[in-house]
Amino acid sequence: MKVRKYLRGSGRVLAFVFVASIIWLLFDMAALRISLSDVSGQQLKERLIREREFYKKESMQALHPRRSFTHPVRRVADLPGTQKAPRRPKDDLFQVYRHKGEEQGQRVKDEQHKSLYLAKSNHSKFVDLKLGNAAAHQNDNAPKQNSPAKKEAVNLNVNAVGAEVTQKVAVKTLPAAHKAVDKVDSKPNEKVKDVKSEIQPKAIKSHLAQTTPHQLSNQDVKEVNEKVAQMQVKVTDKNNLGADKGLKPAVNQPAEGKSRVSTIAVRKSDVHKVLSLDATNSPRDPKAVGQFGQAAVVANHENSEVEKRWNEGHFNVYLSDKIPVDRAIPDTRPRKCAQSLIHDDLPSTSVIFCFVDEVWSTLLRSVHSVLNRSPPNLLKEIILVDDFSTKDYLKKQLDDYMSQFPKVRIIRLKERQGLIRARLAGAAVAKGEVLTFLDSHVECNVGWLEPLLERVYLDRRKVPCPVIEVISDKDMSYMLVDNFQRGIFKWPLVFGWSPVPADYIKKNKMKDTDPIKCPVMAGGLFSIDKKYFFELGSYDPGLDVWGGENMEISFKIWMCGGEIEIIPCSRVGHIFRGQNPYKFPKDRQKTVERNLARVAEVWLDEYKDLFYGHGYTHLLNKKVIDIGNLTDQIGLRKRLKCQSFKWYLDNVYPDMNAPLAKAGGLVYNRGLRKCLALQSDSLSFETCDLSKQTQHFNYTWVRNIRHHELCIAPQVQSNNFALQPCDNAKNEQRWLHKSSVSSLAEHFSAEVLRGMCLEGKLEGQALHLRACDANNLFQKWQFTHYYAR
Ligand code: UDP
Ligand code: MN
Repeated sequence: MKVRKYLRGSGRVLAFVFVASIIWLLFDMAALRISLSDVSGQQLKERLIREREFYKKESMQALHPRRSFTHPVRRVADLPGTQKAPRRPKDDLFQVYRHKGEEQGQRVKDEQHKSLYLAKSNHSKFVDLKLGNAAAHQNDNAPKQNSPAKKEAVNLNVNAVGAEVTQKVAVKTLPAAHKAVDKVDSKPNEKVKDVKSEIQPKAIKSHLAQTTPHQLSNQDVKEVNEKVAQMQVKVTDKNNLGADKGLKPAVNQPAEGKSRVSTIAVRKSDVHKVLSLDATNSPRDPKAVGQFGQAAVVANHENSEVEKRWNEGHFNVYLSDKIPVDRAIPDTRPRKCAQSLIHDDLPSTSVIFCFVDEVWSTLLRSVHSVLNRSPPNLLKEIILVDDFSTKDYLKKQLDDYMSQFPKVRIIRLKERQGLIRARLAGAAVAKGEVLTFLDSHVECNVGWLEPLLERVYLDRRKVPCPVIEVISDKDMSYMLVDNFQRGIFKWPLVFGWSPVPADYIKKNKMKDTDPIKCPVMAGGLFSIDKKYFFELGSYDPGLDVWGGENMEISFKIWMCGGEIEIIPCSRVGHIFRGQNPYKFPKDRQKTVERNLARVAEVWLDEYKDLFYGHGYTHLLNKKVIDIGNLTDQIGLRKRLKCQSFKWYLDNVYPDMNAPLAKAGGLVYNRGLRKCLALQSDSLSFETCDLSKQTQHFNYTWVRNIRHHELCIAPQVQSNNFALQPCDNAKNEQRWLHKSSVSSLAEHFSAEVLRGMCLEGKLEGQALHLRACDANNLFQKWQFTHYYAR
């Protein structure tokens, strides 16, 4: 059982990688047994090593598209404190709902919690806002997934009072809602009161939080809408404001003399408790497939259907189509998030979804999750950018479906632009003050938006990202991820997740609700002040289709004065796919490599060697690849007076190990027991002396043996060597050394002359090229320092 559990979801990918590595290891060990004195054996072995490196890289790219590797997921059932409770099969997810109640010392039954999310009965916690004539109530069903349902629309435009729609708002400010549940529980038959008289225009928040379900009159609705629209929401109990200092938003005071001044809000505004809205236009069906983010099971006889449809999205499309487009998902925020205080006058946002051939049900679920769970006054619009999709259902059918939501706009690109330029197209027409980019297969959780906008409000150079949770590609269940995760990169610019170092958490007394400094964003989901986005030069428009743009914008933000943060109180589920389901106009590998090379050339300074040295030296040959013109990007970096990449590593990602050379210091020849020296353009051997600069060499990431500007290269005809001005693009200047555990690990074997190694000698020229011999000590070299494996 346990094993099966680990083999679920992303565990399967990890297991696959593990097994693949073992196989490679065995393969490599077998290769090592090949006769070591035989030169062709050496060559074969080297080739195997190279091939292994190549395949390792390839499989990494294929198996781990950008936002997936080592994302530490937990089933909701794995939440602390939930293990011991006896559970019914469907209870797991309710644990998440429950933990907030427990914090208040309250015990609430599962069924009651359910009702917080399901507008089901009289006990429903939905506030039914009747915005139109009674006829609208006849259509109370959720829009059918595959058919447009204009009249049944949810209309979240709060100004559209009088429109023929029914809007139901689930109010889920939990502690208060618990009270409401208790109330209902204790007096189940209590007649629903008319709240008209109770609504004090200045106390909307407390009304929203504490009311039991009510039918509101048109006048009430108007008042509510006006109030919500203006966001003059007051916190009723002012004494509570300081109860938890950590949750009170602090408007930073501009630091004197700092250039940040203009980016920090110095507004004085009231605050309100974060709104945990979850609105649907009709009651949710608790028995619906995947409801509450539960894992959905497919019967055996349906497996062939699942398989047949898998490639449409590289996830369980068959299952997704069965799940309601507005399903409830568990509120996975840390406990205290629901108490966070938010400024009343946050900027509005345009939510931008780019998509190419997205699956119908996931696209709709993404849009509904935004409509349902965002405060209407903050949601300026939703922009769907169709990146030249080929699927029919994404044309008229999508237009028709979305026409029921005035806030949704669709932009169609005339040719395939790729996600980077598609986002730029969306940003160009956006009317909100803040841009919020989302992938087209997400589910935004309750309270997701305000904490993001709050950060931008506090300082418009903050770029907040939600915690990206995992919607299983297999069973579509919603899984929460561990706390304190941040986005990082490893060489060669591969995105990954890593926990914030424990000592950092301790030193900074970090709470699980605190924003997390994030060296690299995953890419798909973030908010950014629109003006700031364009001041930063947006994305490099020379990046194609997919890949590398998250590195580009991350380095740019950090190095040019901004900050990227992960906001634990904002959570959005995302389906991580094993493969991109869409076609790349050109070769996928080449497209991504080219994008990364552009990023490296513009942003990495001298550290770009680390990128190229990790399997990308072929990109240095301009004949092999044209990475395009970089003048604009380099000019932009200068104009913005951005920091160096070294500054970024020192200040933003100090735990990254990035030595500028693989090895360095003296180069000791084991046979001669002397060190190599370079004097007046010729090489010789001398008694080793660390104080002599002439004896200092580097073994660089692109595998050069380098002394300042000079590099050693083999001479093909004379079996000799030459000293040449170093040129990273020249393959002949590359030597394999310590490239793997092998009998030639200590040798310098020429990369372009397979099987030839550098051998030291005392008489004549200091070096010559000889057939590699694993046992020859004169071919064995050691640097004083090895900085990396
Ligand atoms: N996308 C796009 N055009 C492209 C490639 C991707 O509009 O050429 C969209 C895609 O539909 C998705 C978003 O960009 O909504 C991010 O792509 P994807 O989900 O494949 O990236 P991942 O999550 O795997 O990093
Ligand atoms: Mn995605």
